[in-house]
Amino acid sequence: MSATLDPVPAERPSSSGEPSGAAPSSVGPPVVAVVGGGQLARMMAPAAGELGIRLRVLVEDPASSAAQVVTDTPVGEAGDEAAIRSLIAPDAGRPASVLTFEHEHVPNDLLTDLIEHGTPVRPGPHALVQAQDKIVMRHRLTELGVPCPRWAPLPASSPEEGRAALASFLREVGGSAVVKTSRGGYDGKGVRVVSSADEVDDWFAGVAAGGPQLLVEEKVPFVRELAALVARRPSGEVRAWPVVESVQRDGVCAEVIAPAPGLSAELDARAREIATTVAEGLDVTGVLAVELFEVTGPDGVPTVLVNELAMRPHNSGHWTIDGAVTSQFEQHLRAVLDLPLGATGPTAAWTVMANVLGSELTELTDALPEVLAAFPEARVNLYGKDIRPGRKLGHVNVSGDDLDEVRRRAVAAAAMLQGEAPSRGEPVETTEEEANA
Ligand code: ADP
Repeated sequence: MSATLDPVPAERPSSSGEPSGAAPSSVGPPVVAVVGGGQLARMMAPAAGELGIRLRVLVEDPASSAAQVVTDTPVGEAGDEAAIRSLIAPDAGRPASVLTFEHEHVPNDLLTDLIEHGTPVRPGPHALVQAQDKIVMRHRLTELGVPCPRWAPLPASSPEEGRAALASFLREVGGSAVVKTSRGGYDGKGVRVVSSADEVDDWFAGVAAGGPQLLVEEKVPFVRELAALVARRPSGEVRAWPVVESVQRDGVCAEVIAPAPGLSAELDARAREIATTVAEGLDVTGVLAVELFEVTGPDGVPTVLVNELAMRPHNSGHWTIDGAVTSQFEQHLRAVLDLPLGATGPTAAWTVMANVLGSELTELTDALPEVLAAFPEARVNLYGKDIRPGRKLGHVNVSGDDLDEVRRRAVAAAAMLQGEAPSRGEPVETTEEEANA
């Protein structure tokens, strides 16, 4: 298998989904163009630097998280065709080798056109749509035989029609259900638990007014939430990291424990196999995160159902920066450039990632002297974002042998960055072994 990079796309039309192989218009390291200037693009930068790859990031704002650390950051909206075209082929500078994303809110027709004109787009629009639209995703996963919660689309050309469909689903599953908007939801927005059919009338009215379609799912009595992260390159190689537990608070990921404690080897393998099936079945290139519910099967044996997909580096994979041989950010760059993928094994018995969600501080870095002194083993990653309540502002990774202690320290360090008083006063002792872990 060749390990060469894709040719830089030149100005030539092509009907295939991949570049035509024309000669690069200039020499130099590959340029990866990324749509979106948040923390995910920012965290690609160290890996790009190490591999000698250039990043060009389309940022919404010159002060955005990624623009603070990447030098080549044209400003524009993800939905702006001219901005995306000049991201790939700027007036000055070399054309991009590949276009990729840190979020899924991109216009698919434009991506299809770019592919037809020779720019590799990874993941491609045919895959991305599955992460953009939960109804499309549920249909496709069902076709692939991937285990999902019981679900149904909620046709709602009028609120009455929507209510009738929801009432019928509620009767079928008994008790409560979860209604979701098919598009545009994130961090629990666009998800509502209901026990009667009139609790989403506002959303039904929204559908009738041209808003996103709705679907309903059984309310899964899950034991916990897991995530399976894989990367796949265009030539087919797939690698999976150990399956992790993600701890959600108020619909937002608060902690990730890697690997998921107490997960049987069988369930770890099953979850990885599901993620691989999804990556292959949907032709995903780059990193794919599969969010899972662990449930107790009818025979009392734990099993998993797929909740949702993200086709990009994901919060459930931030632990890999410090706890795995290859981080998800480096792996994403390797995958979209069709380079050989890196090893995904853990570098410690346990790694816990704790998110910094909002802060009472006026400036997060003000806490660094205290946090770094108290937790010398902690890997602090701050995203340079303005502080807002509940906003993901950074994360802390701690690795070690004793899960309880690793978790306590990661959470305490993140709490200190959130400006929470209790952990400030906590006496903290660090052994030399921990400090060097
Ligand atoms: P988002 O796209 O906003 O991240 P998700 O579909 O991931 O929305 O749902 C957010 C959270 O809501 C999940 O992490 C889970 O805790 C809960 N949830 C979602 N779907 C279900 C379901 N079918 N049953 C039970 N809980 C659910």
